[in-house]
Amino acid sequence: MDRNSLLEELEALYPEMVGTRRYLHQHPELSFEEVETPKFIAGQLKELGIEVQTGVGKRGVVGRLHGKPGKTVALRADFDALPIEDEKDVIYRSTVPGVMHACGHDGHTATLLAVAMILSRHRQDLKGNVVFIHQHAEEVVPGGAREMIADGCLDGVDAIFGTHLWSKTDFGKVGCRTGPVMAAADKFTLTVHGRGGHGAKPHETIDAVVLGATIVKELQQIVSRRVDPLKQAVLTIGSFHSGNTFNVIADKAELSGTVRSFERAVADQIAMEMERIIKAMCESAGATYTFHFEKGYPAVVNHADETELVRKAAEQVVGAENVFEVTPSMGGEDFAYYLEQVPGTFFFTGAGHAEAYPHHHPKFDIEEGAMLIAAKTLLLATLDYLES
Ligand code: MN
Repeated sequence: MDRNSLLEELEALYPEMVGTRRYLHQHPELSFEEVETPKFIAGQLKELGIEVQTGVGKRGVVGRLHGKPGKTVALRADFDALPIEDEKDVIYRSTVPGVMHACGHDGHTATLLAVAMILSRHRQDLKGNVVFIHQHAEEVVPGGAREMIADGCLDGVDAIFGTHLWSKTDFGKVGCRTGPVMAAADKFTLTVHGRGGHGAKPHETIDAVVLGATIVKELQQIVSRRVDPLKQAVLTIGSFHSGNTFNVIADKAELSGTVRSFERAVADQIAMEMERIIKAMCESAGATYTFHFEKGYPAVVNHADETELVRKAAEQVVGAENVFEVTPSMGGEDFAYYLEQVPGTFFFTGAGHAEAYPHHHPKFDIEEGAMLIAAKTLLLATLDYLES
């Protein structure tokens, strides 16, 4: 297949990609509540004459394009939105109050549909098969990937590629990296049960505010003093609720937070150290506690050969000087589950600039031209893989 003419065909599709992205942007749906989005995607794939399976892992959509006998590549795009009020002043602003595509998943979907359109037009020349994985619920643990894999979306797949449009990375650049690129993201909740009482009689109470605050401070020592300094980890306490009024000693404190790491062993160590500190602090204060540590997505760990393949594809699209070694992010992504099953890579397509609004911000937006870069890179990587 003539790569240049395929890339030109993609370019001609750009207005349609923008249209699709904006339509989805106006009609966002929350994770695990997606109904219309998968219907829309399935409709588009069917129109292309691609074999479509809906309800994969309950809400996902899988398109299977069969070419000549050969290998099978999967391409994945997620399609869920976030519980955020869209504060952008643009014509394609969300029409759903309190729900917004604030992570670019609308762009991922439009990108993958464009790639599906080009490849479906040329299926008679395709040396192998392509599976289009349109995934629901990336934003909320346990995520849609696991359910879709359990439902067979990776059956027969030899390699998988995926990208994230990234608002903080300059438009025109593509970031790749072999090894870990996104962190394992775990969640914890802690309730400290003390004994409430009069604000003037602390000796008759077990002050949950003081105890909770002490625990917060002690937990800071885990990453700084207990974790191997050559390993990356984050322990964040995101919420602390306790007490109702100024002159009453609170009987309980409720805390929650997240732990990020790149290795399961590090996360396990942190969970263990947390419980050790919480237990010791509560026991010495005569209090009790409830502590839940929930494992989230594992780390996204890219495979070497597939990453090199994408790097070369991206170099053809944006030039070698614009392909960079991406710094791992402490954000989480359930693309991790696919990479635990089959080799592949997850890369970052610059869709903004350093001062752009970050992901999950009420004014988040993408440079739409990034979709074309992502689509071209995915297309070339797919052909390179199938023809290698
Ligand atoms: Mn995302």
